[in-house]
Amino acid sequence: MEITIAHLYPDLLNLYGDRGNIITLKKRLEARNICAKVTEYSPDDKIDFLNTDIIYIGGGSDREQLLVCQKLCEMKEEIKSYAEDGGSILAVCSGFQILGSYYETDNEKIQGTSLLDIYTKQGKDRLIGDIILESPLINSTIVGFENHSGRTYIGNHTPLGTVTYGYGNSGNKDIEGVVYKNVIATNLHGPLLPKNPLLADKILISALDKKYGVTELEKIDDTFENSAHRYILEKYKNK
Ligand code: GLN
Repeated sequence: MEITIAHLYPDLLNLYGDRGNIITLKKRLEARNICAKVTEYSPDDKIDFLNTDIIYIGGGSDREQLLVCQKLCEMKEEIKSYAEDGGSILAVCSGFQILGSYYETDNEKIQGTSLLDIYTKQGKDRLIGDIILESPLINSTIVGFENHSGRTYIGNHTPLGTVTYGYGNSGNKDIEGVVYKNVIATNLHGPLLPKNPLLADKILISALDKKYGVTELEKIDDTFENSAHRYILEKYKNK
């Protein structure tokens, strides 16, 4: 078995250890003797949607987000068919906002790919800090770090989780992220996946199920991952 991960534009979107998410996916596949192929794309490359199993879009500054948005808008139809067909996407922060209809800053309104019926408006201050969610997607907590000035409004979409500590999508401390088919969009950096092995495996299973009908993964030793996860839960348990 082989899973191909497309890492979109790491030269532009690469904040807060985004690459750690790719390393985690790769390592967790290899620990199960599944071949992991990572293809890094630059904005001028043509994305091979047909032979991609997981797409990763990370975080960046507004300037970089604008460049990436323009590129991805040119292929919004391909992104839509990929996602509607059950292709897996993990989109973090800028990546999350790019999947929406638009991102409005004080100076401009940047059109997004409109895969999700969501929109983002720049707020006055940045929402920064550790964040904890309760996520029905994995029946567990998700921990991470958020740093965004965008306030994202997700309408009728399903959130990734409810916020138990931190700000969340719009700063209202209520919901965070979006889950749509096999698309997970979130503000959580950290990087996200090393501290949330259940979420990493959820993404891998969605890709393996689509390609090979595999719905379960062999257990691996997550002692370090779980203690990093628990550290954040303990730190904020009475706050
Ligand atoms: N445009 C983003 C913001 O809301 C990007 C943030 C990020 O990727 N960390 O600030």
